[in-house]
Amino acid sequence: MTSLDITVAGAGILGLWQAFELARRGHKVTLREATDEPTVGAASRYAGAMLAPCCEAESAEPVIRELGRHGVDMWRQAYPGIVCRGTLVVAASRDRGELTRFARMAAGHRDVAADELARLEPELAGRFARGLLYEEECHLAPRSAILFLVGELRRMGAILRFGEPVHDPVWMAAPAGGVVIDCRGLAARSELPQLRGVRGEMAVLRAPEVALSRPIRLLHPRQPLYVVPWGDDRYMVGATLIEREDGAPVTVRSALELLGLAYALHPGFAEAAIEELGAGVRPAFPDNIPRAIVRGRRILVNGAYRHGFLFAPVLATAVAEYLERGTVSSEIMTIE
Ligand SMILES: Cc1cc2nc3c(=O)[nH]c(=O)nc-3n(C[C@H](O)[C@H](O)[C@H](O)COP(=O)(O)OP(=O)(O)OC[C@H]3O[C@@H](n4cnc5c(N)ncnc54)[C@H](O)[C@@H]3O)c2cc1C
Repeated sequence: MTSLDITVAGAGILGLWQAFELARRGHKVTLREATDEPTVGAASRYAGAMLAPCCEAESAEPVIRELGRHGVDMWRQAYPGIVCRGTLVVAASRDRGELTRFARMAAGHRDVAADELARLEPELAGRFARGLLYEEECHLAPRSAILFLVGELRRMGAILRFGEPVHDPVWMAAPAGGVVIDCRGLAARSELPQLRGVRGEMAVLRAPEVALSRPIRLLHPRQPLYVVPWGDDRYMVGATLIEREDGAPVTVRSALELLGLAYALHPGFAEAAIEELGAGVRPAFPDNIPRAIVRGRRILVNGAYRHGFLFAPVLATAVAEYLERGTVSSEIMTIE
């Protein structure tokens, strides 16, 4: 296989994985990012980042679960910082119908009774009568994972250009005889008018008095919540799902709901320091399925919605296999 000359536009999680996968296969990769440092202007900054193909199946197409499992495997092989202790789903006793509904929609769990739940997460002992454990799921601290990928790219000799946006038309950035992979997220809307943004609000809490070891999803009929341990006493609390595109600061209503539910899950969050309240906008296609769209020597990789971390390695492998062998992963790839 001859080495290809590839420019990737955008250093969100999709662009980073595209660059990483192609560089480790021996291709010549240049990554260009509009902002001066990774994650500043990216949806990827705000992710959980749970790698949860089973739980996501509650509201997603089957392909998310099927291919998402490969995404978890690829992260496990590539990233030493991944934590695989499963996801625990719980609900207050008045909302136990939510737990039954979730179990029906999202297969791959084991029912855990109160005593096992207390062994898994001692600080939740006595608070929930029942839970669902999705053992094969993992999570990671997204900003550390992003820095790891940047470091790996440098180590492999990829050229990284931060503060150097790729301008429309993006195909002009393709090196002679090479390929450009457009991972600009919502900024690619000039090329992908069907993209929409879905706002997600989150908080980062530093809570030395809380010791949770895996992502916990607290079901609630109006505003479900998840808490993801990022390490070093930090927890990501998220996230709203609002069909709106603005990345404006978090509203008081959302903050009250997120933080109130976090406190309801674990009273230790009362003394937590709020390190960040932020809102990211998830790029999504109308069917919420991430996709690579091939237009000649230009490939657009986008629409990751809630699944960017889960699907970044899946999309990167699909694009690499297409470029090297012409293989088309029809579920997530369109040739135009
Ligand atoms: C609150 C929240 C929680 C989430 N939780 C999870 C989760 O638990 N698990 C999960 O898998 N996913 C999660 N997601 C979804 C995930 O964050 C997104 O799917 C993912 O970040 C999208 O990545 P992206 O690379 O496509 O876009 P982005 O991260 O937005 O990256 C696009 C990049 O392109 C750059 N750019 C723009 N224009 C140009 C240009 N002209 N030239 C060069 N660069 C340019 C931008 O600066 C940016 O860095 C969550 C999202 C949110 C908001």
